[in-house]
Amino acid sequence: SQAAFRTDLSVLLDQVGTGKESLSFMKRRIRRLAQQWATAANRLDAKLEQQWRDQKKILVHVGFLTEESGDVFSPKVLKGGPLGEMVQWADILTALHVLGHNLKISMSVKELQGFLGVPPGRGSCPLTGPLPFDLIYTDYHGLQQMKQHMGLSLKKHKCHIRVIDTFGTEPAYNHEEYATLHGYRTNWGYWNLNARQYMTMFPHTPDNSFMGFVSEELNETEKRSIQQNKVNNMAVVYGKEASMWKQGKESFLQILHKYMEVHGTVYYETQRPPEVPAFVKNHGLLPQHELQQLLRKAKLFIGFGFPYEGPAPLEAIANGCIFLQPKFNPPHSSLNHEFFRGKPTSREVFSQHPYAEQYIGRPHVMTVDYNNSVEFDSAIKEIMRTKVEPYLPYEYTCEGMLERVHAYIQHQVSVGSAGGSRMMGPLFVPLPNTTALGWASNVTAPSAWPPLSSLRLLVSQEGQSCVDACQSAGFICEPAHFRFINNKEALLDVQCEVVDSEINHILPAFSVVRQECGLQREPLLFSCAGHSPKYRRLCPCRDFRHGQVALCRDCL
Ligand code: UDP
Repeated sequence: SQAAFRTDLSVLLDQVGTGKESLSFMKRRIRRLAQQWATAANRLDAKLEQQWRDQKKILVHVGFLTEESGDVFSPKVLKGGPLGEMVQWADILTALHVLGHNLKISMSVKELQGFLGVPPGRGSCPLTGPLPFDLIYTDYHGLQQMKQHMGLSLKKHKCHIRVIDTFGTEPAYNHEEYATLHGYRTNWGYWNLNARQYMTMFPHTPDNSFMGFVSEELNETEKRSIQQNKVNNMAVVYGKEASMWKQGKESFLQILHKYMEVHGTVYYETQRPPEVPAFVKNHGLLPQHELQQLLRKAKLFIGFGFPYEGPAPLEAIANGCIFLQPKFNPPHSSLNHEFFRGKPTSREVFSQHPYAEQYIGRPHVMTVDYNNSVEFDSAIKEIMRTKVEPYLPYEYTCEGMLERVHAYIQHQVSVGSAGGSRMMGPLFVPLPNTTALGWASNVTAPSAWPPLSSLRLLVSQEGQSCVDACQSAGFICEPAHFRFINNKEALLDVQCEVVDSEINHILPAFSVVRQECGLQREPLLFSCAGHSPKYRRLCPCRDFRHGQVALCRDCL
């Protein structure tokens, strides 16, 4: 049947349940943003102009909040522990509800079994018969639990699963055999999903789908009043846990303190945490709406390098702060940093919040070398005299998130049918003469999403990934388009003497030394992120909507 937008969230609030601090946090957030979601639903409804939307049966199984996975998060909600995940799950649940789908929510293995039709007490009894859901959103913990309780049938139903995965999983880590043979094995990857089934918090590698979350949007009156009431010498520090203030922060904190009044929201039990200097006005961990109030007054929101890539900087920028953050040189990654070690990605992180740096930038975001006190000092002075307006990228508004999730649910079916590599067999589509930036204008593939009209073929520089190659040409890498360019015809431009087909996540590519071209034999290994010295990659780029990088111009 047809899905109808919902603006009343009371059913959802009942479904979320009670009894844990994490659930209360999510419900407070859902209630606080209810009006914003309702407005967004009405706007998107109008924008889609009666477009048919299928109502899907959706199960959301929040693995990390189950007792069975230890639920380490709930007890930390009031103590400065990570809240980003909670923010995101609250928003995913709300988006699915508002879009009008038939939603079931599970936060324990027992509920999961109930929904999947596994008889209680028969944990190892695999689900038989068809899956009672069109889509299942879960996380890595939940995936593990589903494997235990669905047994072999998980494989059969894998294409219905979407994994909420904050930092992302690159194809080389996801392919079990390849990861094991080539040193990409981690505790998380190796599920052999289509990499687009992993959904991230920020648009990291486009190999994964960008799920995101929302931040509050201000109306014009609020924006004006914020700008009038800004306190130019007020700074709020990003870091709610005392450990984030440890080591080496004294020198730049001193400089900051020379010019500004420094506020913090660091969690403490009875007395001020010793890591936080006496001149800092510490408010303790604040409820979300009180943090927003503080950000409305502050001019500067300053990061100390950790946590990476959380929601708070977007909230600060949306409330008219400038976000100042450290540049990382060399970049942090799973190769050199404890936090990223063992995560299924080789992504290099060049600052605390790469999204803020790349997608927002000046004047809202300044990324500087904190070890250079002259640079740091002049950044602070510049911030105090710069006027900025509150800013929120469209993709982080309620409407933007609804639009994106709607598009995924209605169109991203090819991901489903690609659950096994067999089914995503190479589609040999001849491309017309390919210039360095050719366009497959007369190729037709009626069922493709994103539509083929969005494809721009590009050859990367030596050693460059398709993520970077597409980006530097003003496009974004689109893994769904690899199957159209993984053929000899697309390689017309590069003078290769031999064309081979291999299993290697760098392919399709051109080996500069050997003058050889290589095509990809394993569709699961199509990778935007892959790069290797001496290789020029063949890259399927696509256009994107301003403020909505997940969607191409004709994607709605
Ligand atoms: N937050 C809060 N009170 C505070 C500090 C932060 O409620 O005193 C909220 C903030 O609004 C944000 C969430 O915590 O939405 C996540 O913050 P952060 O960016 O620090 O990411 P995390 O590391 O928690 O995932």
